[in-house]
Amino acid sequence: MKALLNTEFKCLYCGRVHKIDIKEIIFGKIEQINEFIKKFFLIDSKISILCDNITWEVAGKKINNILDDFERVPLILKNKGEKRIIAKYEYFEKIEENIKDKNINLLLTVGTGSITDLGKLVGNRYQIPVMSFPTAPSMNGYTSPVSAYIKDGVKITVPVSPCKYIYVDDEIISNAPIELIKAGFADSLAKSFANADWKISSIILEEKFCQLPYQIVSKAEREYIDKGDLILKRDKEFIHNLMETLNLGGISMIIAGSSAPASGGEHLISHFLDMYAYQNNMEPFAYHGLQVGIGVYFCSLVYEKLKELNDLEISKKLNQKYIDYNEKEKVLTSLFNSSKELLKEIFKKKVNNVRKMKEKLVERWDDIKKTAFTMIYTPNEIKNFLNKGNCPTHLNEIVLDDALIHKILTLSRFIRDRITILDIADEIGLLDEIVKGYIKGNL
Ligand SMILES: [Zn+2]
Ligand SMILES: [Zn+2]
Repeated sequence: MKALLNTEFKCLYCGRVHKIDIKEIIFGKIEQINEFIKKFFLIDSKISILCDNITWEVAGKKINNILDDFERVPLILKNKGEKRIIAKYEYFEKIEENIKDKNINLLLTVGTGSITDLGKLVGNRYQIPVMSFPTAPSMNGYTSPVSAYIKDGVKITVPVSPCKYIYVDDEIISNAPIELIKAGFADSLAKSFANADWKISSIILEEKFCQLPYQIVSKAEREYIDKGDLILKRDKEFIHNLMETLNLGGISMIIAGSSAPASGGEHLISHFLDMYAYQNNMEPFAYHGLQVGIGVYFCSLVYEKLKELNDLEISKKLNQKYIDYNEKEKVLTSLFNSSKELLKEIFKKKVNNVRKMKEKLVERWDDIKKTAFTMIYTPNEIKNFLNKGNCPTHLNEIVLDDALIHKILTLSRFIRDRITILDIADEIGLLDEIVKGYIKGNL
């Protein structure tokens, strides 16, 4: 990990130059955080500490006391309507007020996904370096160069500078709520499938691809992936390895220059759930990572089904299938009334990419099978990993309405323009069939 930080190098895999502008990731004790920051910032620098009610109690308050060599400006976000803070644009203004024209030298986020994403977004806008103090190993956003949040009802992901410093206290993340540790574990399972989707997309649309993200995360993943039963025991070594892998997952996005190596079709399913909950003023169905884990299992079923096909069969199916895009768009936008226009734009781009995909798919199918299909786990393996970690595997564990499950799984492919396995399955007429089997419990 150390070798990857604060460096610029020519890649052995893709030949391009990758630049990773994270200065340091340190595992240390919370009590030493003042000394750590002194390495980089002058005494009396102004530090804004961003927390919510919960993370203030977990660590924020303590950090505020420890940082006595600095001027502190704590900001504890108060929930707006929902039980816990979610990354939505409405919170952005509140943080902005606390930062703007105040000569802040460092923005210290104390929390998990939402706090980190909001902090990165503000830091990016005001050119303030961000340091993250994770309170749970729940996702890979501490090191990722993107911020994902809900704006006008759509879950969007925008590029931002990653956190420059990450300070992890193993004791604190090991004591995080079990559901958050599970969520980080399940989120990390997306890696193979996201990389496979990225590989497919690069083969079809002739975009850049780099094998390095897949390589660095695969190595770290082997340390814990089949040991999910250690989550309940709060095993320190397991949780440490998980945190390291999540951080590598974020770095893999810096290398790729996009979220592609960590976010494929499985994430679209999770984003769709977040958008649906937001649109209907409901609490989120589950934590991000748990939703992703469910998406990973579903995508593994789709890959498994497509694995059996050869190029001739793909060609036949591609010619038979006709999708009524107008109808799809109508159903999709009717679910997200406040974000109609934005969704229509994305839809258009997706249909355009799909058109290109259909031109190349048959000719490139062998190549896809030889590469992308060798990167992933089987449905049995995924189910086993998730079960060991006591994580949900099926959507019906968090969504009770079968008709809604059908919509989620058949429409989520349209909320982002990148090509994934879900697009291929739908365009060859298999997605609907897979979804129906999945709902009936046959898969
Ligand atoms: Zn590369
Ligand atoms: Zn994720």
